Order: sequence, then structure tokens, then C-alpha cells
Amino acid sequence: MLVTLRSEADADRVEGAMRGMGLWTRRIADGDARAVSVVAPSPPVDPDALRALPGVAAVLGRKSAHPRVDAQRGRAVRVGDVTLGGGTLIAGPCSVESEEGVFAAAALAASVGARVLRGGAFKPRTSPYAFSGHGEAALDWMRAAADAHGMAMVTEVMSELDVERVAARADWLQVGSRNMQNFALLRAIGTAGLPVMLKRGMAATVDEWLQAGEHLLAAGSGPVVFCERGVRGFDPEMRNLLDLGSVALLKHALGQPVMVDPSHAVGRRDLVPSLVAAAIAVGADAVMVEVHPDPASALSDGPQALDVSAALALART
Ligand code: PEP
Ligand code: MN
Repeated sequence: MLVTLRSEADADRVEGAMRGMGLWTRRIADGDARAVSVVAPSPPVDPDALRALPGVAAVLGRKSAHPRVDAQRGRAVRVGDVTLGGGTLIAGPCSVESEEGVFAAAALAASVGARVLRGGAFKPRTSPYAFSGHGEAALDWMRAAADAHGMAMVTEVMSELDVERVAARADWLQVGSRNMQNFALLRAIGTAGLPVMLKRGMAATVDEWLQAGEHLLAAGSGPVVFCERGVRGFDPEMRNLLDLGSVALLKHALGQPVMVDPSHAVGRRDLVPSLVAAAIAVGADAVMVEVHPDPASALSDGPQALDVSAALALART
């Protein structure tokens, strides 16, 4: 963005005011023409606020590609009765495996301080032969389990066809990593008007992630919480590469609601607690972990689920 100055303008004052808005600036002079350019890593800025500065002639440059996301800056997010912030804990099984199973997992999640119950009723699976969730029945089991413990509920929506029935039970709709750029799905989810947890696509840039959030908000969604869950790395040692730098960027430079899912990032339970601590240190509003009373019998993602003793150890830290 380029801020051009009137001939009588005090360039130091204009630049000082821009820096006071948190912007990084560079002065440009070409003959009599003077301007101040906004450079990286500046936060988003409202061009009208710049136009209002005394001495400014014009503000030139590209508009933000995600104005509705920018407008979320500093917004507190409420899901059900829970206001996210300071590392709110979201926990639950990878998949809702049975009615008794989700009640047991919810009891475990609640006992370690989770305020929101997670769990998949519709599961995206790499293999078409893997367990892919119990669908609508699982939504009812999960709602009852969340209510039994006074928790809010978040679950993934995989198809436009499922939006209504998921929105009728859940407080918060999850977009999975594999669907971050499924624009028809984003539009359909947006129309439900609920808060959305937007997982980062496994090979998505931050800008693509923000623009996916814009799709949701433009379609009428409630607040969008950006969930970092690791991007594809080069090293098979980790399931994914947890990009905490982007969490800091979203939280501190862009003021966005942001959370971290360390379970899907590392894929192994022993590393999850350290990354929960790291996520909170970097400013995550919430963290989401998979828990299971008996991970060895889990129908999906057993190796990364915290068992009872690991979940209790996490709660003590
Ligand atoms: C999940 O959280 O259930 C899930 C499938 O995660 P992701 O979309 O991040 O792989
Ligand atoms: Mn999982």
C-alpha cells in the first residue's frame, strides 16, 4: 500500500502516525512527489484510517483479499457457552465409535478440564475400507455426552448434504484439512451461521487459509477459528510439521482467533503434552487433543490418543 502526501504535508508526522498504527513503513521521494509505503510485516490496515491522516493525498494499492477475516481482529469467540481464550481445552476421541464409547471419552475429557467435546461422526479416511464414522446416530450420542458434562460440541462436516443435520446438534462446525479449499462445502457451512473451526490444509499457505476463512464469512458463518494441525513435511518421523510460527503470525500480527491440534501434527501421544505447552506459549486461544480410554482398541488414530494416565498428566501441567 502506498500513501502519497500533499505538498504541504509533514512527512515525519504522517510516518509517525502510521508507525503508531503498528505499521512498518518506508519513505519514498521522487522529485517533488513524496510518499510513505507500507511494507511487510505490517498488520492489515483500513485504508480509510490512512486517508484520514492530515497531509495524506491518496492511498493506493490492492485491497485486502480477506476483509471479513481482517474484521475479526481481536474478536472473542464463543462456542455454545464457552468463550475461547488462553488455551481452552478441546478433547475427545478421533471418531465417535459407539454410544458408550463417546460417553466414556467425554467423561475422560471433562475430568481433565476440557470445555468442548470433539469427535468425528463423519470421518475422512485415506482408505475407503477404513471405519468412516456412524454418521447421524453418532451426532446424537455425542450431543448427549457433551450435555452430560456441560461441554460444547465440535464435529466435522464432510459434505454439503450433512450441514443441516450437523448444525442441528453441534455448537461448532469443523472443516477438515482435506476440505479447506472445498469451496462449495465452505459456502454451505457458512450458511448455517455457526462458528467454524477451519483446519489448515496440509499444503496450504497462510494466505490460502485466510481466504478459505473469507469464503466462510462471506457465506454468513459465525466467527472462524483457524486451527493449525501441521503441514506436510519432508520427514516421515513426524506425521506432519507443526507450524507454530504461523500460529504466532495469525494471533499476534493479524489478531485472529487461532488454535492448535498437536495430535494430528505429531501422530504420537508422547509428544502431544509438550506441543500443548508450546501452543499455549505461542498464544493459541485453544488446543485440541484426541483422548481415548483405551487407545489400543480405537477405530482411528489410536497411537496419538492420550490414554487416561497421559490425559491426567496433561491436566496436572
Ligand atoms: C480430525 O480432527 O478429526 C481430523 C480428521 O483432522 P484433520 O482434518 O486435521 O486431518
Ligand atoms: Mn484423528
